[in-house]
Amino acid sequence: DRLKESKVYMRALFDYIPLEDKATPCQEAGLPFKRGDILQVVTQDDPTWWQAKRVGDSNLRAGLIPSKQFQERLPLRGPGLRDRRKAGLRRSFRLSRKDRQGSSGEGSDPGESEFLTYEEVTRYQQRPNERPRLVVLIGSLGARINELKQRVIAENPHRYAVAVPHTTRPKKPHEKDGVEYHFVTKQQFDADVLNNKFIEHGEYKENQYGTSIEAIRSVQAKNKMCIVDVQPEALKRLRTSEFKPYVIFVKPRVPESRRRRKNSLIAFLQQDEDLQEMRQSAIQIDQQYGHLVDRVLIKEDSASACAELRGILERLERESFWVPISWVR
Ligand code: 5GP
Repeated sequence: DRLKESKVYMRALFDYIPLEDKATPCQEAGLPFKRGDILQVVTQDDPTWWQAKRVGDSNLRAGLIPSKQFQERLPLRGPGLRDRRKAGLRRSFRLSRKDRQGSSGEGSDPGESEFLTYEEVTRYQQRPNERPRLVVLIGSLGARINELKQRVIAENPHRYAVAVPHTTRPKKPHEKDGVEYHFVTKQQFDADVLNNKFIEHGEYKENQYGTSIEAIRSVQAKNKMCIVDVQPEALKRLRTSEFKPYVIFVKPRVPESRRRRKNSLIAFLQQDEDLQEMRQSAIQIDQQYGHLVDRVLIKEDSASACAELRGILERLERESFWVPISWVR
């Protein structure tokens, strides 16, 4: 009956170009969309082709889109990878075994089907008495998201906070346990890793550092918005109805190519290689994790990126956003 009112909304997890899809019964009737678009599904009567509109389109005509079931069978119906590429369907890639094992088993994980197709979503607005949504920053090479996070928090420490990390390094005299870090022994840290307490952890100068789930909870318990910057692999752990993460992908603006100045050819080539690496890093994250991203922030410089992030955080408390329907049921 939800269908009759056409209250079914799906976030597309792949790009679709009907004119390049050989399987469609009628190319002109197809609805083109891009990954991340929100589609209002008008009918699911046909098991193969749904009718849908794109939310935000002024054009009210519904078009045909492949059903979830049909799209999941893409490798069977499509002639091969090459044609799938041509059909603009390359984004519904097969998740690696590792990714699938890493998924938390929460119903919201779109990775539970083997191919990325659609994720059912609904509008959600945080109410004043509800715990603030978790803000997750992921960044490609050169984005310096930790700096960005620290700056936004320093401007408004009553509203925003970091999750206090754990470390095995010795406490410095000016530091207080539970403020800069939770200082723990190596044994304690290792036990916590085994008990899956951390969303991420790593080694730096032979000391262990990690951020725990509990550290996020304790920020939220104070009714503050918790901002974490993590490796994108951590997203799987954080995508739960408890945290309702809003994921911001920070990409540095990479200039096309830098003009060669007076510096040596070697320095010029090195610089170009660095830019190339930055571009590659952004492309890789986009391909692997783009479907989990709510917002892309192109970072020109620190100050403007900071202002933009501040604006996003303010809207997050005031406005409604699309979230997986399983988070609010
Ligand atoms: P310090 O010991 O000087 O406070 O921190 C040194 C370095 O430890 C930081 O620059 C950062 O690279 C790393 N670090 C600090 N907190 C964390 C954390 O929560 N997780 C990880 N993986 N590394 C951290």
